[in-house]
Amino acid sequence: MRKKIVAGNWKMNKTLDEAVALVSEVVNMIKDEVTGEVDVVLCPPALYLTTLKPYLEGQTRVALGAQNCHEKASGAYTGEISAPMLKSLGVRYVILGHSERRQYFSETNAQLADKVNSALANGLTPIFCCGESLEQRQTEVHLDFVRAQLTESLFHLSPEQFANIVIAYEPIWAIGTGLTATSDQAQEMHAMLRQHIASQYGQEVADNTSILYGGSANEKNAAELFAQPDVDGGLIGGASLKSREFTLVVKGVKN
Ligand code: PEP
Repeated sequence: MRKKIVAGNWKMNKTLDEAVALVSEVVNMIKDEVTGEVDVVLCPPALYLTTLKPYLEGQTRVALGAQNCHEKASGAYTGEISAPMLKSLGVRYVILGHSERRQYFSETNAQLADKVNSALANGLTPIFCCGESLEQRQTEVHLDFVRAQLTESLFHLSPEQFANIVIAYEPIWAIGTGLTATSDQAQEMHAMLRQHIASQYGQEVADNTSILYGGSANEKNAAELFAQPDVDGGLIGGASLKSREFTLVVKGVKN
């Protein structure tokens, strides 16, 4: 079943005390104020996951996610974190292929295919990020570019495996810039992505895939973006760092 999801990507922000405060506040606000059907995923820095987990105890609506994992299960990869490690902490989701990972850590579509495999093999739900640069949009290659990101990192999966994938469309020019894709631009890309998934896996799998929008989404623009027929929620960076702002974004999801 296609789910509405709002995920918060905290990136490399917050001290431990601040992280504990933010999680407690968000969990309480979601519990008290959000009535619609929406799954909330909090992706703090990985070293806080164990400490934060008890704050989610008994929550059906809020889950923990990581911001990345290594493609190998274990081994001599100093400083890295594997999917089995995340699984052992009770983490449910993992963001893969964020544009910052692609840019600063040179992650490729082929490497991301391996990361996706490792995440799925360990029962984690990948939130697979894709998205074009401003130049690619201006030269009108954006649809082809994003289509290829999916093909090269995901289309080796079986339909049963693909059913566990969440997509996040994040135009690079909109991430952290205050520029947001218009709801028409988001809808165009999301509809294309769904159609591309349908061409590989059939309409039923495509219709059941959650496709999130990310890129300067906030409490002012979330409701309009999330109201688009192919936008199933959001991956939120800056606005996920304040409990009130993030809760208002979550409340932008209408069922
Ligand atoms: C992100 O990095 O995933 C993101 C969407 O960031 P922001 O909301 O700050 O643009």
